[in-house]
Amino acid sequence: MSAIATPVSVEDWFGNLPRKIREWMEERINPEDDYTRYMKDGRDFIDEHKIWKTIKENRDATPHRVRMIIDKALSTKECLEPEEVATLLNVKDEELWKEIFEAAGEVKRAVYDNRIVTFAPLYCSNLCVGNCLYCGFRRDNRVVKRKRLSLEEVRREAEILAGMGHKRLITSYGEHPLSDANYIADTLKTIYSVRVKARKGWGEIRRVNVNAAPMTIEELEMLREIGIGTFQVFQETYHHETYHRVHPSDTIKGNYHWRLYCMHRALEAGVDDVGIGVLLGLYDWRFEVMGLLMHSRDLEEQFGVGPHTISFPRLRPAASTPFVQEAKYRVSDEDFKKFIAVVRLSVPYTGMILTAREPEYIRREVIPLGITQTDFGSKIGIGAYSDSYTKQEAERQQFLLGDTRDLDEGIRWLAEMGYIVSFCTAGYRCGRTGTKIMKLLKTGKEKVFCKLNAVLTYKEYLEDFASEETRKVGELVIQKEIEEVRELVPERVFKKFLEYLNRIENGERDLYF
Ligand code: SAM
Ligand code: SF4
Repeated sequence: MSAIATPVSVEDWFGNLPRKIREWMEERINPEDDYTRYMKDGRDFIDEHKIWKTIKENRDATPHRVRMIIDKALSTKECLEPEEVATLLNVKDEELWKEIFEAAGEVKRAVYDNRIVTFAPLYCSNLCVGNCLYCGFRRDNRVVKRKRLSLEEVRREAEILAGMGHKRLITSYGEHPLSDANYIADTLKTIYSVRVKARKGWGEIRRVNVNAAPMTIEELEMLREIGIGTFQVFQETYHHETYHRVHPSDTIKGNYHWRLYCMHRALEAGVDDVGIGVLLGLYDWRFEVMGLLMHSRDLEEQFGVGPHTISFPRLRPAASTPFVQEAKYRVSDEDFKKFIAVVRLSVPYTGMILTAREPEYIRREVIPLGITQTDFGSKIGIGAYSDSYTKQEAERQQFLLGDTRDLDEGIRWLAEMGYIVSFCTAGYRCGRTGTKIMKLLKTGKEKVFCKLNAVLTYKEYLEDFASEETRKVGELVIQKEIEEVRELVPERVFKKFLEYLNRIENGERDLYF
């Protein structure tokens, strides 16, 4: 359990953090160990002058050049060069944008087929020493009730989610000594131990990704041993000045480099799957695309592996958080589509996460542009799945969601759009992570594993959790997939695949390739 075991009273928050917490904050960062050794000549990899210069110098490309870049992305599926990305970002012609959107969809289908991975967020604690101007959980926000779930409460939340059919969670925590790496480790162990009865088999959480504040190498090693899935930390904005403006300097998050290099530390700690991201609305979205690209390239250069996922939440309203309404870089729906398409073409093998922050009509439009993961049935209040509260809901949330449809409805909706939802977590459990998974993706081998496992886990969901209506639509999806698999794999594998489907129908679970 956490080193500091006494909860902080709400009064303690405001301008008067207890000494123990201040000491904890002061001791968190050791620049030499934590980031300067990854820097080159004392500089980080976000050279703003160079980024803007690249964007400017690639302003007047001919349609021919734009099409050459699109063709390169389609034929090689290699990461694009900064000049090429900048060229795409500068396109003005709407017809060319249509071609970019189509190409992005094509790249997604070539690498990930018609699969969408799904997950649910589990917010464990909103105690936070951060004071990010845009966030409902910032320490100065008095309207939010502070709570850290006990491990029993975490178990209850996980049981409810497993009972809905979820197999993957992303846990989320404010930054605080009471939700430090020890607490995170305890929550992961608790969640992995959950098992609930379902119609024919059982429900369990097989992969827990974590979205939390940056950590040290030792802390990340501890989480790796427990079986952390992807470790996600969003830089929020790569623009130094904006970063410092929205993250006050008397907070840990106020240190740009501690955050910028947290994925370097994670990879060094052996946490192979790292998730980067930006919070759209803080600064120019074109700059942020270049920032994500530079981040991916630096990780590749120093560790031989790029980000496992990229996230790009758009700012959402949050209780008593006027910054959001006033933000001048808010990204329009049209630009959001452009952002997604260019990122898809620029880093073809990275998973791209779209969350329920976005409303249904946007999700419908952008999923075909390259999204590989999305959530359904999400609640982001602390203890929100077990609590049947409604009135206080807004008070306890970090921001407001745009789409509150449940998992069953989401799966049906995606099936009707031609997608199969994958609950597969086999790759990670068989060690197909980091550089290994990137190699398998690039040679097309992972695609076959993923397809087979997607169908098997989809079948589990239909048997155990789906409504009658969803089951009908889902079985049609499975029939279509079986026909495709027949063409794709040797007879021996196909037979085994059919045998697994049959065994799942008879109540066996967790069969995978
Ligand atoms: N405290 C950890 C941190 O800051 O890294 C955990 C992150 S927080 C629970 C998850 C993410 O939510 C943040 O990284 C930020 O990008 C996003 N977020 C915060 N406020 C938001 C808002 N008003 N609208 C949309 N996303 C928001
Ligand atoms: Fe705290 Fe994270 Fe919200 Fe910042 S974004 S206030 S660090 S929970």
